[in-house]
Amino acid sequence: MNETATAPTAPLRARAEIDLAALRANVRALRALAPGAQLMAVVKSEAYGHGAVPCARAAVEAGAGWLGTATPEEALALRRAGGLTPERVRIMCWLWTPGGPWREAVEADIDVSVSGMWALEEVTAAARAAGIPACVQLKADTGLGRNGCQPGDDWAELVGEALRAEAEGLVHVTGLWSHFACADEPGHPSIAAQLTLFREMLAYAEGQGVRPEVRHIANSPATLTLPEAHFDLVRTGIAVYGISPSPEVGTPADFGLRPVMTLAANIALVKRVPGGHGVSYGHHYTTPGETTLGLVPVGYADGIPRHASGTGPVLVDGKWRTVAGRVAMDQFVVDLGGDEPPPGTEAVLFGPGDRGEPTAEDWAQAAGTIAYEIVTRIGTRVPRVYVNASP
Ligand SMILES: *Cc1c(COP(=O)(O)O)cnc(C)c1O
Repeated sequence: MNETATAPTAPLRARAEIDLAALRANVRALRALAPGAQLMAVVKSEAYGHGAVPCARAAVEAGAGWLGTATPEEALALRRAGGLTPERVRIMCWLWTPGGPWREAVEADIDVSVSGMWALEEVTAAARAAGIPACVQLKADTGLGRNGCQPGDDWAELVGEALRAEAEGLVHVTGLWSHFACADEPGHPSIAAQLTLFREMLAYAEGQGVRPEVRHIANSPATLTLPEAHFDLVRTGIAVYGISPSPEVGTPADFGLRPVMTLAANIALVKRVPGGHGVSYGHHYTTPGETTLGLVPVGYADGIPRHASGTGPVLVDGKWRTVAGRVAMDQFVVDLGGDEPPPGTEAVLFGPGDRGEPTAEDWAQAAGTIAYEIVTRIGTRVPRVYVNASP
């Protein structure tokens, strides 16, 4: 990830300011909401666009005992970054494909998720070659219909073979786990059904002799709304970054969370134009009368959704403006309604929202998506500027 130590006020084209004090406070708030469970900070995909290593370090400083990633490469990169040693933090990854770096993961003391027999076979072979037992977490599909082992015969076979490998000293079954489909829709009937099936699949595995260190199913929405789903560990991603999983769950402030990322750009040009002037590709906006236009130098290559053409909100000089016409690859335009702020004036696309700026959730609504996608897609051309880095 493109990092810079430059002060956040430096005149960069654009920057994503990452407030690590907010991140640490979010981790502490989440730990207080799930006091009986350990906390895994999910830092996949560069910590949802915030930068994996600085965010992982800050989360550990605030008491996260686990880090979670999707891919093994992400998990290995955390171990290599320094400071995130097995003594300090457990790391788990769950998105494996055949031929993945099982041996490297075993040697780096990373907990690996196994959803099916092919994966158990590959990880036991790697453990045998490395001469070190693998830490394996068996994933149950309790209803998401995505990754995970089906209940019934498939689960019985996977549990049986994992116990055989454990008896041979090739694996430790460190966890039993699952993932919700609809936890961001409180009251959805699938939530209770998944919890019931999870308990049944746990009881079966434990009855066969599995002694997991951790049993877990809660993502951010379940951590925020469903204490009975906390078990031994909660896996929080979006909430660590101070964003609510969905408006239905509540606002970040409802849970004592604060958005970590502020995305801003410096206006590149302000000019006066007559009425009837087409703006940006396709002329989907035409100035209603004489006005001023401001050029905001970020576009879809930076992760600004093209679907927010004509709708995305931006704070300029204390006023909300709207993307005029199409978002282009590197830039978009706002109608400044006759105001003439000097070039270089800051345009804030989103932030915590308490200085009048829009939030990532506002952009999600403008683009017809979820706030997860807004922050995660901010591109590598936008430098991350870390503030409040030391605890
Ligand atoms: C991404 C992910 C999470 C975190 O989800 P949030 O809704 O961001 O908290 C947890 N578990 C798994 C398996 C994931 O893929």
